[in-house]
Amino acid sequence: METKIVKITDPRDTKITEMGEIIRNGGLVSFPTETVYGLGANAFDEKAVLSVFVAKNRPADNPLIVHLADISELETVARDIPDAAYKLFREFSPGPLTIILKKKDTVPDVVSAGLDTVAVRIPSHPIAQALIRAAGVPIAAPSSNLSGRPSPTRAEHVIEDMKGRIPAIIDGGACSVGVESTVIELTTGTVNILRPGGITKSDLGAVLENVTVDRHVTEMVTDGETPKSPGMKYKHYAPDAEVTVLVGDTKTTAAEIKQLLNGEKGAVCGVMCYDGFAFDCETVLYMGEDNKTYAERLFDALRQCDALGVKKVFAQFSEDENYGLAVRNRLFKAAAGRVIIL
Ligand code: AMP
Ligand code: MG
Repeated sequence: METKIVKITDPRDTKITEMGEIIRNGGLVSFPTETVYGLGANAFDEKAVLSVFVAKNRPADNPLIVHLADISELETVARDIPDAAYKLFREFSPGPLTIILKKKDTVPDVVSAGLDTVAVRIPSHPIAQALIRAAGVPIAAPSSNLSGRPSPTRAEHVIEDMKGRIPAIIDGGACSVGVESTVIELTTGTVNILRPGGITKSDLGAVLENVTVDRHVTEMVTDGETPKSPGMKYKHYAPDAEVTVLVGDTKTTAAEIKQLLNGEKGAVCGVMCYDGFAFDCETVLYMGEDNKTYAERLFDALRQCDALGVKKVFAQFSEDENYGLAVRNRLFKAAAGRVIIL
């Protein structure tokens, strides 16, 4: 399949109308959001949504997020919406917050992978907003990477994975948040975080009391367990390089990485670290000063390691409850258990 790649920086660009038509008519369009690039299909079109799973090679039991342009559209896809959902959407939307709600029958079962709930988000990126409005329908969209690869935060990443597999890619530049949206479920009186992201635990805590982090955000899903969110059981974000995470204060982890590099003479090594450190190896990728910039650069860094032929990556990481939780969740999955706590 020929993939049309269009650069759009202005949401008023008339090319948005054409991209919206592709979606409305059952085609797939990859588009930028503030979190990562999405692979969009008409959420009301079962066949179109099925083709998203095929294009990404995504397991059929991992549901998609439905993207709306405005809070007023919530009832077109969800029912029995609790007041807490309106309260949180009013506070954090448009933005990187996804809420699990009861699904309306208008949304085909393929979108929710057979669950009776639907994940809903209102993205803030101006191109994403314009695309949803141009399509005139809600857009079901997972991240626009091949399943198992790091999520795409630049159009080049999408081109790497999806060129030849979908009709169109909108190149709208780099994504600002860099990790996927915060996914939450609401139970009576509590907000439960199923996936940490750009809206942090303390952000949510400022609006509603009793914010919890689901056990499977930090613990591996073991055989026989059914996690609250199907995506939790998949090992995402794995680059080809072997990633080892070193957790602790930055001085201690930097010293340990130097030791480990000494023992790795011969292998092509890379380091992901906070600003201000220097290492003697082929590739040093700076993740900025804190976990907010770490989140923004994380997926790009993992892809860069592969592109540069790095075989072993040592990632420095200091924990915190906010952006740190989102970084930890992705980094630990990329490391597939190779975590050293110092
Ligand atoms: P992605 O779009 O690739 O970021 O993946 C969407 C994430 O939302 C996955 O982790 C899904 O498992 C999760 N998700 C989507 N719909 C639901 C739902 N109805 N209930 C629980 N989790 C969901
Ligand atoms: Mg994904």
